[in-house]
Amino acid sequence: MTDSRARRVLLVSPRGYCAGVDRAVLAVEKALELYGPPVYVRKQIVHNAYVVRTLEAQGAVFVDTTEQVPAGSIVVFSAHGVAPAVHEEAGARGLKTIDATCPLVTKVHAEARRFADSDHDILLIGHAGHEEVEGTAGEAPERIQLVDGPAGAATVRVRDPAKVVWLSQTTLSVDETMQTVAALRARFPALADPPSDDICYATQNRQVAVKRIAPECDLVLVVGSANSSNSVRLVEVALEAGARAAYLVDDAGQIDEGWLAGVRTVGVTSGASVPEILVVAVLDWLAERGYPPPEEITLTQERLTFALPPELRRDLRAAGRLAPADQPDDGDQRGQAGGGGHLREAVDQPVRQ
Ligand code: SF4
Repeated sequence: MTDSRARRVLLVSPRGYCAGVDRAVLAVEKALELYGPPVYVRKQIVHNAYVVRTLEAQGAVFVDTTEQVPAGSIVVFSAHGVAPAVHEEAGARGLKTIDATCPLVTKVHAEARRFADSDHDILLIGHAGHEEVEGTAGEAPERIQLVDGPAGAATVRVRDPAKVVWLSQTTLSVDETMQTVAALRARFPALADPPSDDICYATQNRQVAVKRIAPECDLVLVVGSANSSNSVRLVEVALEAGARAAYLVDDAGQIDEGWLAGVRTVGVTSGASVPEILVVAVLDWLAERGYPPPEEITLTQERLTFALPPELRRDLRAAGRLAPADQPDDGDQRGQAGGGGHLREAVDQPVRQ
C-alpha cells in the first residue's frame, strides 16, 4: 500500500481557459442575454463537452452547418475560425453573424492570404479534419497543402521550392511541429518561416508547464475533451517529458481508480477550453482517495484578454449593455481581464509558486 504521507498532487499553471476561449464563450453568453434564445452556434464554440452542455441549457443551439440555421437567425462562429465561403453562405442566407474566431487564428488566416497573394506555396502543418485547419485552408485552397507531420513532409510537392512557406495550426505540439519543419526544410532549404509563432501562447505555455512537472509524476491527469487538440497534445507532451502515465479525462467521473495503483505523485493540468470547475472536481476526487491539497506550480501568469467581437460590442452599446471592460474599440487585444459569465468566473484563481 502506498504511504499516504508521501503522496503529492502537483497542480500546474498556466492551465485552463485561454483568452480566445474566454472571449468565445463570453460572446455566446452575451448574445443570449442580448438577443434571447435561441442563438445558433456553428460547431462547438470551443472543444469542451461541459461548456457546450452548459450553453445549450442557456438556449444556445449547436449546428454543424449554416444551412441548419433558420433564415434571419443569429449564428456565432466558433473560436476555431471559418473559411471565407462560410461567411458568404451565411450572408447569402441573411443570417446575422457574430464571429468569435480567436484573433490568434485570424492572424494565421491573414498570413495565409498574404503568402497566397505573393504566390507562395503554403504548407500548413496541422491535423486533417480539424475545424481550424479547414478554416485556414479555405482562405487560399489553391495554394495551401496540409502537412500532418514528418511523414507528410516527405511526400508533399510544391511548384517552386524557392517560394514555399510553412504555417501551422495554433494548438500543435511545439516539438513535433519543429520536427516537421526540419523535415520540410531538408527538402526545401529556402522554406520561409511564419512572421511570428502560429502555435499560440496558451498552447505553448501549457506544454512548457506540464513538461516541468512530468518527470516527477507517476500519473498526469489532463482535464479536457477528446476533440480538443491542445488537450490531447498535453497528454503526449507529458508522456514524452517523462510522466509514467498520462490520461485525458473530460471530468472526474472518467478517472479510473486503477490508474492510482502505486501512484505517489499526481500531476494535474487542463486544456485551454476547460473551465476551472472541472479541475476542482478532479482535485476533490483525489482528496477523497487520500491525496493531499495540491502544490501549485506556476511557471508564468497569463494576463492577455481579447475584447468581444466588434459586431456584438456594437449591439451591446446600442442597447446600453456594454460593460466598461468590454468598451475598447481599438483592436481586439488587451492586457487585463474583463467581466464575464459564470463559465469563466472560476478561472482566475489566485496562484502561488
Ligand atoms: Fe486562441 Fe490559442 Fe486559445 Fe486557440 S488555444 S482559442 S488559438 S488562444
